[in-house]
Amino acid sequence: MSRLCLERIYYPVLTLGYGKRLGLWVRGCSRNCYHCTSPELQDYGGETQEVADIIRAIPEDFQADGLTISGGEPFDQAEGILELIHWFREKISDDVLVYTGYTLAELQAREDPLTDQILREIAVLIDGPYVEALNDNRGIRGSSNQKIYIWKYPERYRDADGGERTVQFVGEEHSLLQIGVPPKSENIDGHE
Ligand code: SF4
Repeated sequence: MSRLCLERIYYPVLTLGYGKRLGLWVRGCSRNCYHCTSPELQDYGGETQEVADIIRAIPEDFQADGLTISGGEPFDQAEGILELIHWFREKISDDVLVYTGYTLAELQAREDPLTDQILREIAVLIDGPYVEALNDNRGIRGSSNQKIYIWKYPERYRDADGGERTVQFVGEEHSLLQIGVPPKSENIDGHE
């Protein structure tokens, strides 16, 4: 049984991939990108959850066009992420999109079987650290240095790199949650 340090799971996510998606955000990332798009998710603290329990909380008849996994750094929790991907591919769809702060070359250099398995099973990878100065407010990647590897469904993701970017606002108990890649900060000073 694998576990995940999970921040949030939400449906429907409309701004991070094709169609209506299940969105999952893990906690924990050590990259410390300048103007990190999710600074509240850098901390690895908090309780972990069994992936089986996360799955059990999702209705049996759940439908979605795909799964988007972000964070935090998903590949720092490869075992739990892989279990979740297996379930999603078997029950719902093989359109799985993963954001990572690592480059594809860094992931491949790990020579880690779990990492390699994730890369074989997902449809889309958006890789590399977020660079605020290269946020051009286009597409579903945070900055133009990040590459989008489309291994399945090229027709669904043809605008992923340069298309119009949108964000979605969702009401939470006492706040408004923004889902989607945020626009470039207005106070950019050139630091990366
Ligand atoms: S890789 Fe993502 S979560 Fe990690 S510090 Fe950079 S922007 Fe933040």
